[in-house]
Amino acid sequence: MPELPEVETTVRGLAAVLEGRRLISVEARRADLRRPFPPDLRQRLTGATVTGLRRRAKYGLIDIDRGDTFIFHLGMSGSWRIDPVSLGKHDHFVLETDEGRRIVLNDPRRFGSLDLVPTDALERSEPFAGMGPEPLGETFGGAWLATALAGRTAPIKAMLLDQRIVAGLGNIYVCEALHLAGIAPTRAAGRISRARLDRLAAAVRQVLLAAIEAGGSSLRDYARPDGELGYFSAQWRVYGREGEACHCGASIARRVDSGRSTFFCPRCQRS
Ligand SMILES: [Zn+2]
Repeated sequence: MPELPEVETTVRGLAAVLEGRRLISVEARRADLRRPFPPDLRQRLTGATVTGLRRRAKYGLIDIDRGDTFIFHLGMSGSWRIDPVSLGKHDHFVLETDEGRRIVLNDPRRFGSLDLVPTDALERSEPFAGMGPEPLGETFGGAWLATALAGRTAPIKAMLLDQRIVAGLGNIYVCEALHLAGIAPTRAAGRISRARLDRLAAAVRQVLLAAIEAGGSSLRDYARPDGELGYFSAQWRVYGREGEACHCGASIARRVDSGRSTFFCPRCQRS
């Protein structure tokens, strides 16, 4: 499942072929993914020039010169390919640029989405309204967490997954950051000292940046004819490693809450 770093590297890969380019052809090969595409999507994108690409949480944002922003979400299994040799049945959406590059959205499970929103209304529209700061942005840090978590008795892990506290963090990176910061996932969020919140915010940044760097180093693969953007393997500290040894020598544990697994070290993350 694409997490924030995969979306970030996808956006960077797409920027290399889309930024400043005119979209000469736009083809929706079906009418929906998780929900219907905007009915006028093709008309509003065809002939437009891409002015910039960015990411917000796990959404990719493609700004065009008509005052609209084209928004994609990769859902469970979505990915963009650049210049694939041929199209398959899971290739649902195709853009062609004035340079003749073909950019194709593949999504076998179809939990992704495509939307088009006026750029100046973006922050007020779903799902961005009320969303917390970017974990790699300037607002996010120990001070932000101290304010946002004050008095909260919920476990810190649940709070970090709450998009109103911080945007775009998924299960993997929350487990990894809590381990790096040495904080128990079950610790009441409002009872963590400021110094430990500073460490936690730094850990969140560190695990995300390391993953983005790993994805960036796989940018070479974009030259592949069927180059799939954004996917890379990473070495997790605890995620998916139940029963294996932590660097401290203790055995990594797993607990399940409402169907979601938490991986942690009972020794490094005691409180
Ligand atoms: Zn440990």
